[in-house]
Order: sequence, then C-alpha cells, then structure tokens
Amino acid sequence: MTNGLRAGVLRRAQRVLLAMTAVAVVAVIAASWMAARAGEGPSWLQAIFGPPQTLAGRQIGIVAGHAGNDSGAVCPDGLTEVEINQAVADAVARALQRRGARVDLLTEFDDRLRGYRADAFVSIHADSCEVDLSGFKVASLEGGSRASDTLVACLWARYETSTGLKPHPDTVTYDMRGYHAFREIASDTPAAIIETGFLSGDRRFLTRQPDRAAAGIVAGIECFLKP
Ligand SMILES: [Zn+2]
Repeated sequence: MTNGLRAGVLRRAQRVLLAMTAVAVVAVIAASWMAARAGEGPSWLQAIFGPPQTLAGRQIGIVAGHAGNDSGAVCPDGLTEVEINQAVADAVARALQRRGARVDLLTEFDDRLRGYRADAFVSIHADSCEVDLSGFKVASLEGGSRASDTLVACLWARYETSTGLKPHPDTVTYDMRGYHAFREIASDTPAAIIETGFLSGDRRFLTRQPDRAAAGIVAGIECFLKP
C-alpha cells in the first residue's frame, strides 16, 4: 500500500467513525427525550426534556371515582367504571407531578377528604354503559364557590379541545352537583367532578386512550391554576 492510499483509507475510516458517533449521540438524545416525556429517568433529565413546571408548588387532589368502594357502572361483558377511572386518575397524577405539583391520589371515600385543602380538587368518573351515548360532562357543587365555577369552565373547554369528545350537558344530574365529596372537603377548595365519557359510546376512547383523557383533565387544571 502506498502512503497516499493509506492516508485515503484512514480518512474514510475517520469519516465513518464520525458518522457513527453522530448517530449514537442523536439516538441517546432521542431516547432521553422520550423517557423524560414519559416521566421516566432521573430528575435532571426531566428538567431538561420534561414538560414546563407550570404547577410547581401546587397541591392537587384527584379522586379515582369508586376506588376502594365499588365498581361504579358495569358493562354486560364485565368492563367496570372503576378500572377506567383508576387508569385515568393514575395518568392525571403522573402528568401533574411531572409539571411540579404535589398530588394526593384519593379513593372515593378517602379518610383525607374531611376538610381537605388544596389548590384544586377533581373527582374522575365515567358514565353508564346502558344507553348508547357519547360525550363528557363537568359539574361543581350547586351554589358553590366562584373558583369552582372557573375550574369547571376550564375543564369543559380544555377537555373538549384535548380529547375531541363533545360536551353532554343534558345528562348532568343532581348526583353530580350534590356529589358527597363536595360537602366533605374544605369549602374554599376549588372542586369539580368530571364524567370522562360513556362506557357505551366512548368505550374505545376510554379503554385505549386513558392518557388522552388524562391530558384533557390536566389541561383544564393548568388553565385554572396558570399564574
Ligand atoms: Zn361514577
């Protein structure tokens, strides 16, 4: 091999090595970004790649409807409301924590509900499997605080935009406006209850995309608590 040929081979090898290093660096950044977005990995990674800390220092209470008590609505094939509520509530809690909030994940008749104080309180339920309807709805305590009304307005608006589900206000019942937890928590805690969809008409959405339902609720809370 001549000196010139040897130098050519060396240069080509250097270029290949450089390209491989670049690909590896891009792959590591992409993997870090995806892990941080999913809420995994060390906190410094989340600080770089995670969502902005829009809820830093906020205290938020989330009820997984019927959890610890009963199954809620049940479909003929055994799908239960409580399993949907728990999946959505877990995803909401994770997403809120990623944005810096302190979250209390509560059961339906949690001991902590009595006099509960927080910047926001949302109870997560889903609607019946009996009638073939689609849509979501939000309510607060009948005659409750202005802050609760604002939280409800934020959830109506943001849940619809995030999920694409249509509001179904006609089926807001007294059960929702007179929800037991509204009377147990501190009266100055802004509070809302959401029915994330019908187990009948919105079954695919609720079972396959609990994270999207959760994103709608998180967007509603952010809208209410934004500085
Ligand atoms: Zn329910």
